[in-house]
Amino acid sequence: MAVYSFADAHCHLDSCAGILDPSILHITSGYSHQSNLLNLRIAQEHQNVYLCAGISPQEAMKHKEIKVYLAEWEEAIASKIADSGKLVAIGEIGLDYHWAKSQEERFLQHECFVSQLQLAERLSLPVVIHSRDAEQECIDILQNFSLPFMLHCYSGKHSLAEAAAGTGRALVSVPPVKSKERKRVVRALPLERLVAESDAPYLGKSPSDALASIKMIAEIKQESVEKVKAQTLLNTAQFFKIR
Ligand SMILES: [Zn+2]
Repeated sequence: MAVYSFADAHCHLDSCAGILDPSILHITSGYSHQSNLLNLRIAQEHQNVYLCAGISPQEAMKHKEIKVYLAEWEEAIASKIADSGKLVAIGEIGLDYHWAKSQEERFLQHECFVSQLQLAERLSLPVVIHSRDAEQECIDILQNFSLPFMLHCYSGKHSLAEAAAGTGRALVSVPPVKSKERKRVVRALPLERLVAESDAPYLGKSPSDALASIKMIAEIKQESVEKVKAQTLLNTAQFFKIR
């Protein structure tokens, strides 16, 4: 991993403009069938880019016949995308109750989430979780599986993050946005359970903004930026099995 300066554990390169920094290890993430394929192409073109492919809860709730589509979309992940050698996780998947208000929308998200957890099991891949206003529900469902999971852009309570980390198979990913509760989360977890992300272009502007997350972790934990760069890079590489 010495070739990289640090890792951005979660970004969306299909939506980012500009040239990629060769010193950053990028984990780009799909959220729909279309974006999975776009991210696949970017990962195939760049040595320092790996991808997560999945159907996000916001995408799932748009389709009343999610089961029909999902069969086709999951097949693409299990064949063409997995065969690339660049697929490192199923994600981002999960539940988003901020956007899903009706029972039907929540049901569609749930169907899609559980189906993809089974897909991850089948492919022996970890999962990247998107949860908003549904952290407890996501973690409850994950208890039924033995999958390693990364809580992307974690915005829940620190007690829940601690419980997740306590399972020994979770990473908590820190975006470049400060908040009181996020500070508690970073303080409560050992550095070995944390990674840094930009979530570019949505939270950070570009993957280099994962450095702001790293600096935030360093400040809260009173460690050097170099140490946090190295440890979060190692955590990212080990979780996604990148050599
Ligand atoms: Zn994202």
